[in-house]
Amino acid sequence: MTKKTVKDVEVRGKRVLVRVDFNVPLKDGKVTDDTRLRAALPTIEYLCQQGAKVILVSHLGRPKGAPDESLRLDPVAQRLEELLGRPVRKLDSCVGPEVEEAVAALNPGDVLLLENIRFHPGETKNDPELAQGLAKLCDIYVNDAFGTAHRAHASTVGVAKLRPAVAGFLMAKEIEALSRLLTSPARPFVALIGGAKISDKIGVLRSLLTRVDSLLIGGGMANTFLAAQGYNLGRSLLEPDQLEQARSIMEEARERGVNLVLPRDLVVAANKEAGAEHRVVPVNEVPEGWMALDVGPATVEEFCRILAGARTIFWNGPLGYFEQPPYDAGTVAVARALPATAETIVGGGDTVAAVTRAGVADRITHISTGGGASLEFLEGKELPGIAVLEDK
Ligand code: ADP
Ligand code: MG
Repeated sequence: MTKKTVKDVEVRGKRVLVRVDFNVPLKDGKVTDDTRLRAALPTIEYLCQQGAKVILVSHLGRPKGAPDESLRLDPVAQRLEELLGRPVRKLDSCVGPEVEEAVAALNPGDVLLLENIRFHPGETKNDPELAQGLAKLCDIYVNDAFGTAHRAHASTVGVAKLRPAVAGFLMAKEIEALSRLLTSPARPFVALIGGAKISDKIGVLRSLLTRVDSLLIGGGMANTFLAAQGYNLGRSLLEPDQLEQARSIMEEARERGVNLVLPRDLVVAANKEAGAEHRVVPVNEVPEGWMALDVGPATVEEFCRILAGARTIFWNGPLGYFEQPPYDAGTVAVARALPATAETIVGGGDTVAAVTRAGVADRITHISTGGGASLEFLEGKELPGIAVLEDK
């Protein structure tokens, strides 16, 4: 890890602004999934124990640069207080004289939560004035929100440029796990890529091609690869404008000696509705007008066999329309077959949901909290929110 973390700076008595990712689901004024709050606890608890004055800032949802009553962070403060076992004072704004007063009144070990930073139009524009306002509140800046590190916003980059800036524990864990994939993966290194579209993931597919031993492709994006091979996919999700891209990826895999594996059978259905007629067919027998919604059992078996021999696995993208059983079967079967002997890294909002639903989340070496951020990281791009942190 080349970036400084909270352990590399003296925080005692200092005002420490921590960018967290508290973008959690809410219902009826309550947090319905507190995974992201729990993930931030190690950094917050450490800072409190070290006697820092802790100021937390996060976004929640997409409020369009103006206050939105349904996206206030009060329910988050309430749940965080329970998890931390310490009072969490919540403010109704992020910058300005009242906030500065509240910060001035903090004692070492106190925790303050600012309002949803995206209520300010300046956040996503990385407005210097908003960044200044945040910088006024703190002596040290900590970024523990990996999921937003690929965006240059006022609370991820602007303020970080104005103060000594370091990584929190969660951020450090993400950087370490993903860096290992780029620099020194134990081999064989197998990537499993699914999800809806190739176009979302071209960058990462190209990058993985230069690093992996096997590339297994499922989900909607596999349809485009199969179509590029000349198969008729009926009414399946397909990207006609990506056929050339798919061909060129297959060509590059051949040149590099990467074992690129596409589905050999598919679960096809007459339509996407629950209870629609469905059956398993080889890829060359998709009935006219039907659609592929999952990989078939022969494909699952082949994927599992290759995964069983892997020492490093990266997985992004469900292998089918997993929100609608029985089309979760391929995804769930592969999730359950992930070998305990490999280092397994899973990223992507839907993929993490699928792995959790399969009940195997605790067997995964690292579950990345960032969807877009983890893909950009694996493309080899420098993420602005990480670049701005101080080197060791
Ligand atoms: P992640 O959020 O993990 O990065 P994506 O958003 O790329 O994953 O892809 C997940 C979406 O892809 C899900 O909504 C899933 O239903 C859809 N999907 C996967 N395979 C298919 C398919 N064969 N047909 C239609 N949708 C699919
Ligand atoms: Mg998704």
